[in-house]
Amino acid sequence: MIAPAASLDIRQLRREDLDTFFRDQGEKSFRAGQVWQWIWQKGATDFAAMSNLPLSLRENLARHFHFYPIRPDIEQVSTDGTVKRRFALHDGHRIEAVLIPVPEEERYTVCVSCQVGCSLTCSFCATGQMKRVRNLEAAEIVDQVRMVNERCLATYGRPLTNIVYMGMGEPLLAYAPVMASIERLTAPDGMGFSPKRITLSTAGIAKMIRKLADDNPRVNLALSLHAADDAKRNTVMPINEQNNLAVLMDALEMFYRATGNRITYEYIAFQQFNDHPEDARKLAALTRRFPVRVNIIEYNPVEGVDMIRSDEKRLDAFVAELSRLGVTVTVRRSRGKDIDAACGQLANKG
Ligand code: SF4
Repeated sequence: MIAPAASLDIRQLRREDLDTFFRDQGEKSFRAGQVWQWIWQKGATDFAAMSNLPLSLRENLARHFHFYPIRPDIEQVSTDGTVKRRFALHDGHRIEAVLIPVPEEERYTVCVSCQVGCSLTCSFCATGQMKRVRNLEAAEIVDQVRMVNERCLATYGRPLTNIVYMGMGEPLLAYAPVMASIERLTAPDGMGFSPKRITLSTAGIAKMIRKLADDNPRVNLALSLHAADDAKRNTVMPINEQNNLAVLMDALEMFYRATGNRITYEYIAFQQFNDHPEDARKLAALTRRFPVRVNIIEYNPVEGVDMIRSDEKRLDAFVAELSRLGVTVTVRRSRGKDIDAACGQLANKG
């Protein structure tokens, strides 16, 4: 049981903690269920809004707990419909989430952050240039989904269809809050989102991929691959030095065997770095052990990074070579080119 304190966000309590609190306070047990519903189904962030609770109970809750919701800050809207939102956290830090609408496919995806900054220092990433400050709380992740969902409903009249943990931070290094957020997002007494529509994207931490396979929250897994041999991957993703491709492939295979979920490789095509025919062949070789979908991503330039996106001709040749080798491949055209599209760019802005 977490000791109640006026400074504690009530949303850090597990359901059993809340039940215990109500029992200790001599309150009827069904009241805990009502509060839980207000918090996780209706998204209440104020005890005063809990209109079916007696005033004395609302006042008592406010004496013991607090809410620290994230607050919308800046928003940028791209001509292609992509909406990037920056949020302020209660302790002054800032994160971002992105709405990626594809109305013609009835797909509305939110990309959420799970950490303030990131410790993994991938050389091409704006977030990697910031230090890791802290993990987000589960409620701060759920808030991003809820607020972007409201934006999506208001603009498109449709709720979100997909959630990707691909924003700031490494989800497998913020494991506990990420798992707790998935539980709240998918629970029938939470947001009721299908886990099949949720994807965790990792830079590749083998031990944690194995743990995810064991815990099996039934979500999808994507590996940010970006290079198909260790020497090359080490130069852009230092995490590869302790988690080389052989170790990662073993862990991914275990994930696949445990969950039956096809894995996605995310692969940013960088001009003259990883877009040679030889790279395509090495990448294809990494798709043979278990079912894999390859997602080629166009790079959004980041200040201070001298890597650039592959030009059209090289990208087409690269994709054609992968297809020729029998790889299931899609190309994700860059979105939000006219806004601070790269992950971490907007949050990092003064
Ligand atoms: S790409 Fe992901 S893991 Fe790498 S530094 Fe950026 S946020 Fe961290």
